[in-house]
Amino acid sequence: MKTTGIRSFILYILTAAFIGCMGFFLFELFSDGDQWAMQPYNQHLVAGGQLTWAGSISDRNGTMLVGSEDGVRSYNSDAGIRTATVHTVGDKNGYISTGVQLVYRPQLSGYNPIFGVTTMTGKTTGGNITLTIDSSLCETALNLLGDRKGAVILYDYTTGEILCKVSTPAFDPENIPEDIETNDQYKGAYLDRTISSSFTPGSTFKVVTAACAIEHLSDWDTRTYTCTGSTIINGEEITCMGQHGEIGLESALGNSCNIYFAELAADLGKDAMTETANEMGFNQAQKLDEIVVAASTYDVSEADENALAWSGIGQYTTLVTPYHMMRIMGAIANGGAPIEPHLVSSMSGSGLGNYTYDVTAGDRMMPEETAKVLQQLLRSDVENYYNSSMFPSSLEVCAKTGTAEVGEGKEDTGWVAGYCANPDTPYAFAVVVEEGGFGSASAAPIASQLLQQLAGG
Ligand SMILES: [Zn+2]
Repeated sequence: MKTTGIRSFILYILTAAFIGCMGFFLFELFSDGDQWAMQPYNQHLVAGGQLTWAGSISDRNGTMLVGSEDGVRSYNSDAGIRTATVHTVGDKNGYISTGVQLVYRPQLSGYNPIFGVTTMTGKTTGGNITLTIDSSLCETALNLLGDRKGAVILYDYTTGEILCKVSTPAFDPENIPEDIETNDQYKGAYLDRTISSSFTPGSTFKVVTAACAIEHLSDWDTRTYTCTGSTIINGEEITCMGQHGEIGLESALGNSCNIYFAELAADLGKDAMTETANEMGFNQAQKLDEIVVAASTYDVSEADENALAWSGIGQYTTLVTPYHMMRIMGAIANGGAPIEPHLVSSMSGSGLGNYTYDVTAGDRMMPEETAKVLQQLLRSDVENYYNSSMFPSSLEVCAKTGTAEVGEGKEDTGWVAGYCANPDTPYAFAVVVEEGGFGSASAAPIASQLLQQLAGG
């Protein structure tokens, strides 16, 4: 009797353990099954670690960027389009960690927990994805960047659709250069600089400092500082490209006076500057659809007054992604709250239903009043201070250029960020050219050309 009791006890334990394991297995199958199915050893989908059978990725005009035929994965036939869209679409090996082909692999392969990657009829049915980008506009951006390293990103700030997203150095995913790992020309080629790289913002950050002043200083519109070309803050010098004399906010932004914004940031203080930067999305993870975007950073916790002043002119340790700078410009254009950028326009296929993105308003980055003042200031930059040939006047561009010092014996990083106020061309943009020198000469012409292509001119 005693023996039977022990035996049934053991049997109970074993049964409970078996049921527990089955439960765990089923849970894993449903929750992580897509990950298993995506493993490189699943030859239904991948050969040699590469996707074979999967749905297509197309641009907004229906141009197929990559697709599968008879188990062969191939990209668009035009090398320029392949190269211009490689960071957005992704390479065959999945080295570009933010590529749609990698991030949306479960959807493209049509995995579902009941049938795995095959349907009742035994066929693999991957979902198809349509992106918001215009591949020919991306090709234009790629050509304008040429052999310079940089990033171009542009979106419609009323719908959130990203029309152009290009990172260089790029490469042709069908003909990957043999020396891609060793040649300096391709250094960082697997990184999408629009979303995964953050750059010293230089003078484009003066927009953030200006917003902080508008929100924290009651006399922001009458306050002046005197620029003699240099100033001493906390015992160390800060210099300006010009000698601007006594100037106020509008003229200081137009002339991009370092002294004005350095003194302003020092007077605003760490708390106010940090509060405004955080409101605008610094120091937070950002996402573009399902794709992780690197965080921009603004941290003056260890800064003395001189370093705080440098931070006000976009130097010190501050770093910004082109994606984030575009989003800030979109927020200003949109009255303080951005429409969230989108890259995936729609998805269709088995198990996916028919997904179409929604126009979504993001968290407010600044009060509407602040946005209105910044709109006027950025429009004044282009109208009254920049070279009149920089942008076609009909587009009513509002913008700020930047020329960021990066040290290490490198040339300055050229920036431009802005948007068109003309409602017929509702685009916000950010362009970065590494070692490009002046942003007005390196980055701004790229933005201008793209806007003109969009405007049909
Ligand atoms: Zn100055």
